[in-house]
Amino acid sequence: MEEVEESEKPNVLIVGAGPVGVLTANLLGSEGIPVLLIDENPGILEIPRAISLDQDALRILQASGLGEEASKIMPSISCVEMISPYVGTLAKINSMGSMDGHPRLVSIYQPDLERLLRKGLERFDHVKLWSECTYLTHIESDSEVIVKVKCNGTTYRISTGFLLGCDGAHSRIREKQGWKLKGSAYKEDWLILDVEDMPNALDKVEFICDPKRPIAHVPGPGKSQRWEFLLRNGETREEMEKPEKVAELIRPWGELSSMKIQRKAVYRFQAKTAECMGKGRVFLLGDAAHLTPPFAGQGLVSGMRDSFNLAWKIASVLRKEASKDILLSYNVERKPHAKKMIRLAVFLGSIIMTRSRIAAFFRDFLMKFLSFTPARPYLSDLRLKPDNSFGKGLFLKKNTLKNSSISPGSVFPQAPLRLKEGNWELSDSLLGPNLCIVGYGVHPSQVLSQSCIEIWKKMGGRILYISNQQQASEIASNFAEDVTSSFMKFFGGADRFAIVRPDKIVAAVSYGKEVDDTVLRFAEIYQGKMP
Ligand SMILES: Cc1cc2nc3c(=O)[nH]c(=O)nc-3n(C[C@H](O)[C@H](O)[C@H](O)COP(=O)(O)OP(=O)(O)OC[C@H]3O[C@@H](n4cnc5c(N)ncnc54)[C@H](O)[C@@H]3O)c2cc1C
Repeated sequence: MEEVEESEKPNVLIVGAGPVGVLTANLLGSEGIPVLLIDENPGILEIPRAISLDQDALRILQASGLGEEASKIMPSISCVEMISPYVGTLAKINSMGSMDGHPRLVSIYQPDLERLLRKGLERFDHVKLWSECTYLTHIESDSEVIVKVKCNGTTYRISTGFLLGCDGAHSRIREKQGWKLKGSAYKEDWLILDVEDMPNALDKVEFICDPKRPIAHVPGPGKSQRWEFLLRNGETREEMEKPEKVAELIRPWGELSSMKIQRKAVYRFQAKTAECMGKGRVFLLGDAAHLTPPFAGQGLVSGMRDSFNLAWKIASVLRKEASKDILLSYNVERKPHAKKMIRLAVFLGSIIMTRSRIAAFFRDFLMKFLSFTPARPYLSDLRLKPDNSFGKGLFLKKNTLKNSSISPGSVFPQAPLRLKEGNWELSDSLLGPNLCIVGYGVHPSQVLSQSCIEIWKKMGGRILYISNQQQASEIASNFAEDVTSSFMKFFGGADRFAIVRPDKIVAAVSYGKEVDDTVLRFAEIYQGKMP
């Protein structure tokens, strides 16, 4: 077979133009990195899969420059309700209001999100998408990865700096690396039914925890709605997809003849993680790295977090601002968090999927009891959802600030800031896509030594001064005002600093007198060896 040496040598080759691959190409593209993205399919998959996203996902879309457009196609969801046929509402999880500048839960139509992400690629001449192009194999060396792909009958050998496997659940890159998927597959099947143009609006997720037939009922954008019906023992896929069966299942909500079915399909979910998410020059992201059951709406969100965590690190290494060792932190940080989200989804699934009447009776009793105890907010305020924070990774863990909610390895919050000109901006747009030293109540450039500022610049870092309201009038230029006092609360006082990574994870915190030392210690791990 003819084999062609590809003359273009993209810095990064991404296999899989699903939502995670295309998001990653957008993030790398906005950093100016030449990317080749390939997918074996001719276009996007026109089936609705992910139906909800959380504030983390929306913040990542904001960072990709597509947040404004995304918010137009993603209505908010007010709450998630678990309903028992015996005792009524078992739990009501409030998802109203905002967190980090975004709604806490929105509904999406995955193909529309994928279209938006692909449109985003048009902004970059240095990002190329080859459709109908299949990954075959790769060989990794110290200096490059040689990837073989087949497009229109021709096999190409492409040399790239980094290979990213965004090639979904059956990832061939994961297989080639020999990284096994570990975890469990459910024995149960679900019929997923998406309906367009429902006459009655739905703004909440309902889990009908009936042991006879557990059902999830979820709002989609516009007038669309999704039902997920658990198959009973003995029911087959074929039988469940028959129109008469679908009509019987959907009858409590209306006549099938008056509904427009978008899609029906039987799925079996899995709860698995790859034993390694990446090292050297090869990394896995999204479903290639972890498979999350849909009960917490976190499968795609986890993939988007992977993308946000890795893209900036690769860009910094390619620009020679950081040591290649920082890439080791991707697996160290992302794998435990993805596993936590899988555990949450499995836990919620086990509440919903109870099929024994006796077990359901005990579940209902226990949940009603818990609703009268201090444990209530864990469900009602979604506190049982793990924060996007890490135990180990690319940050200085030991430093902390008194009375502050900002801690190394966790998410730096987002809130509105007022600029000198009087306009308001969400803080992430001022932190920007670089490392950033944020000073609260004191200007970093007044405290940092000149040599430290030079080191910081070499790392591609920037500086942001957030002033509290009293100080703002006194300072002539170059500040953003904490107009809602949110950062006062987060920092717990003035004369405090945070080093924030481009993925909005706190890399370090310090008081004014230690800021030089903190920057130098972070520079050591950023440009040298990970501890
Ligand atoms: C019923 C259902 C409901 C869900 N609900 C939610 C939800 O509410 N919220 C949420 O966050 N997530 C949800 N998910 C999960 C979400 O849909 C997935 O996590 C997401 O689609 C994964 O995106 P990805 O880009 O990693 O993989 P995919 O979307 O699977 O993309 C992989 C791409 O790789 C390409 N590819 C594969 N092999 C090759 C090869 N050898 N060469 C070239 N290209 C290749 C494929 O063509 C494909 O385009 C749900 C999933 C399902 C099934």
